[in-house]
Formats: sequence, structure tokens, C-alpha cells
Amino acid sequence: MTKPTIFHKILAREIPATIVYEDDEVLAFTDIHPRAETHILFIPKQFVESVAHAHDHLAHIPGMLIQKAKQYAEQHGITGYKLQYNVGPDGGQEVPYIHLHFLSDTPLGNSPEGIPSEQH
Ligand code: AMP
Repeated sequence: MTKPTIFHKILAREIPATIVYEDDEVLAFTDIHPRAETHILFIPKQFVESVAHAHDHLAHIPGMLIQKAKQYAEQHGITGYKLQYNVGPDGGQEVPYIHLHFLSDTPLGNSPEGIPSEQH
């Protein structure tokens, strides 16, 4: 593998991050320089450098991260958001570990009352 990125270190708990969601496949944490009221980064636990590298057995990963972000929004009552992949240095990707930006200015519905009843 190439040199570990800052996201490898967050995943390994070697550097701190505000983790907002985790399961067997993904980790989600707040962006250190938020560009919206809610700015979360979703990364897969399986390393892929970028959308452009998601071939073959890794091809499902970009879509999987979108599904996780969608579930996060539903579970937190976030009705509007933007999802963004930057791909490659020329596409503005600074960290060479695939990550989905989740951006929303809809207030977080963090209370149990904010979770749609069908999620229970
Ligand atoms: P990109 O430009 O698409 O590669 O996005 C990388 C993102 O990672 C930027 O929005 C940064 O603010 C964010 N970032 C960099 N270091 C950290 C960190 N230690 N914790 C959380 N977010 C970070």
C-alpha cells in the first residue's frame, strides 16, 4: 500500500476525529473545515484511492457510500443535502482516500423525535 493518508489514521484511531456514524463497512466523521452547517465525510473501511480507482470488486463502493449518506439523512431528519465526490488532484481531491462529502444546512434532527417513525 502507498503511504497512509490522514483518513487511514482516523480509521485506525491514531488521530482524533468527531465520528458520527460507523458500521462494518463505513466510518463517517465531521469535516475539520466545514463548508455547511453539517459537513460529514463518509469513507469505506476498505481502502480505495478515489472514484476513478473503484474498479472490479471495488466498483460498488461509491454507490455504497451514497446509500450510507442517504440513510444517515433519513435517520437524522435531514431533508435536503448535497453529496460530492472530488476525483483526483485535478478534481480538487486533496486526500487520496475516497470520501463522500455530505453537506447540509438543514438543522440536524438529532432527538429521537427527529427520527422518522419507520426507522424505529
Ligand atoms: P477533498 O478536498 O475532497 O480531498 O476533501 C478533503 C477534506 O478532508 C477537506 O474538506 C478537509 O477539510 C478534510 N479534512 C482534512 N483533514 C481532516 C481531519 N483531520 N479531520 C476531518 N476532516 C479533515
